[in-house]
Amino acid sequence: MNIPRSNNPRIVIIGGGFGGISLAQKLQKQEVQVVLLDKNNYHTFQPLLYQVSTGGLEPDSIAYPLRKVLIGYDNFFFRLAEVTEIIPERKMLQTTIGELSYDYLVPATGSETNFFGNTELEEHAMAMKSIPQSLNLRSLILENFEQALLTDEYHERDALMNFVIVGGGPTGVELAGALAEIKKGILPKDYPDLDTRRAQINIVQGGERLLDAMSEKASEKAEEFLEKLGVQVWKNVRVTGYDGKTVRTKTDLTFETATLIWAAGVKGATIKGLDAKELIAGGNRLSVNEFNQVIGYPDVFAIGDIACMQSDDAPARTSHDGAASYPTGTKLGR
Ligand SMILES: Cc1cc2nc3c(=O)[nH]c(=O)nc-3n(C[C@H](O)[C@H](O)[C@H](O)COP(=O)(O)OP(=O)(O)OC[C@H]3O[C@@H](n4cnc5c(N)ncnc54)[C@H](O)[C@@H]3O)c2cc1C
Repeated sequence: MNIPRSNNPRIVIIGGGFGGISLAQKLQKQEVQVVLLDKNNYHTFQPLLYQVSTGGLEPDSIAYPLRKVLIGYDNFFFRLAEVTEIIPERKMLQTTIGELSYDYLVPATGSETNFFGNTELEEHAMAMKSIPQSLNLRSLILENFEQALLTDEYHERDALMNFVIVGGGPTGVELAGALAEIKKGILPKDYPDLDTRRAQINIVQGGERLLDAMSEKASEKAEEFLEKLGVQVWKNVRVTGYDGKTVRTKTDLTFETATLIWAAGVKGATIKGLDAKELIAGGNRLSVNEFNQVIGYPDVFAIGDIACMQSDDAPARTSHDGAASYPTGTKLGR
């Protein structure tokens, strides 16, 4: 990778998300060599992905070049590379651009969408964890409305204009609100010859309330606001499958839609090499102690969404979506 050996210890950070960037910045004045690896050369501001999906923002508004963020840092090297394996016995990484040794390793790889092994859902549903996925969703929405203009078949047209969002966490709630605003403000102007009032926005939550990791008051308010915006809120409904046309649930309830957005779970974006025994079941996160040291690996420190720090105050729990076991006090990615 053409990274010079220095007398200072080499800290390799995998992932230029919120965690990786903050750590690289904090280490600037220390006597260490910092190498940041990311499979993209930009940082994604995930909280605004829903705006890209719904056309409110262009992708470059939420993608920042990593080199620019960390420009002028001493003893700092960035390489565009995907890490494919960690070999802790040799303190070595395998990547798409070659091997790299480390003195200390910091996995900060975040999380990825969890379909809980349902391959049918994985094939047909849209996820919203990256900029390319958000752009795909945006294209699909626009294509469906163009398609809706071309059909006389009543049910088909409705299905093309219907949205089903699975997962009533913050991502699902934000997206439902944004879609409802588009339905009200933009669609009638852009598609005057289509009865866009018939477009339905459904949010389907497996548990008994929206935003179940937040206070009950927040849940009530979110539901109230969404319903005012015309969103249909379905609680205690578990989606079991989707063939690209019909959403099936555990009950007799079904939805006809050409757009199902899956916001019902994430799992840690782990890399092969660290002992699977140390991963948190379900959430697929690396179990760390109070210093973020990965249990069983003294030279490896995991941060951000990939890390699971349990304590008496924050024991593991399972979310209503059956999503992941994670400590209740921990900020979670969605
Ligand atoms: C739609 C959405 C909305 C959100 N809204 C909010 C919000 O409002 N408030 C809030 O607090 N949180 C929010 N979150 C959660 C928040 O974005 C995450 O908690 C945060 O991004 C986690 O930071 P991280 O550094 O752990 O990982 P990430 O930001 O996910 O970064 C991980 C990085 O690792 C890289 N990477 C992964 N695997 C590899 C590999 N093998 N090799 C090389 N590079 C790799 C990725 O390319 C990525 O750049 C939201 C998340 C989503 C998806």
